[in-house]
Amino acid sequence: MSPSPNTPARDRLRIAIQKSGRLADPARALLTSCGLSWRESRDRLFCYGESLPVDLLLVRDDDIPGLIAEGVCDLGIVGRNVLLEQGYDRAAGGSALAFREWRALGFGGCRLALAVPDGWDWQGPEQLAGKRIATSYPASLTRWLAEQGIDAKVVLLSGSVEIAPRLGQADAICDLVSSGATLAANQLKPVTTLMESEAVLAGPAEALDATRGELAEMLLRRLDGALRIRHSKLLLFQAPRRVLPDLLPLLPDAETPTVMRLDDGDDLALQALCHGAVTWQRLEELKRAGARGLMVLPVEGMLA
Ligand code: ATP
Ligand code: ZN
Repeated sequence: MSPSPNTPARDRLRIAIQKSGRLADPARALLTSCGLSWRESRDRLFCYGESLPVDLLLVRDDDIPGLIAEGVCDLGIVGRNVLLEQGYDRAAGGSALAFREWRALGFGGCRLALAVPDGWDWQGPEQLAGKRIATSYPASLTRWLAEQGIDAKVVLLSGSVEIAPRLGQADAICDLVSSGATLAANQLKPVTTLMESEAVLAGPAEALDATRGELAEMLLRRLDGALRIRHSKLLLFQAPRRVLPDLLPLLPDAETPTVMRLDDGDDLALQALCHGAVTWQRLEELKRAGARGLMVLPVEGMLA
């Protein structure tokens, strides 16, 4: 669905994020790391962008796909589980898909899993035939059951899904799991994963207009830089030229290092951007291979 013709044209980009909850703080931190800042309105539902014409709308996560579909927001940060669930629901209702995942953001990881009582001897999905399965993700579960060719009853619950089997409301559940502790506390065990999820940047299925499209492109470039360096370090060290063949393979997922000659001799100064973990153990291995003066620096920003 494209924005209604009555919607006035906007020349500012609007991003919806969760007002409070698991994704609220990391979403805001990620956008801040892209150089965005806001003047907050008193009721904190709308934050006016100061450094760039990019405003924030603070909402319930479940509202984000719909806001994008209606053109009220241009982008949103939401769990893939919510985006897919609402996408499957719209598809089942015959609507064209109005939003899609633009980037995976690497936080808010969890999975949508099917869990059964501890006592079940799980043999496979066939065991679910004729059973009642409680979930807050009916469209995802219905789709999965259809793929498996299983006829089971989907019991829709908006919360506390994990106690449904103990209350006799359902035989099994389909819910989000991260550590599995909640399931264990309710004498349930996860038996199969329907969907791997994490926070994603969602946007419209179709391109934005020119002004907001350019803003979104710039944000994506910054976001890609921020995601790329999130765990990266700059490693500085010196070493004799002859040990380089031993040293370079030890650099954790490094880009080609910058190499500078220190004097007329054999000594080199190197700087390497490492995307892998620079652990103490790895530093000691580098030292044993001939590196000196090793220094690990944080990376604040990068634009490829
Ligand atoms: P809202 O008030 O915005 O509707 P909510 O209760 O639906 O909030 P949260 O519990 O904050 O949402 O979860 C937001 C998202 O965090 C989930 O949709 C999911 O993508 C992710 N998440 C990560 N781990 C978990 C988990 N263990 N349980 C639930 N959600 C998780
Ligand atoms: Zn929610």
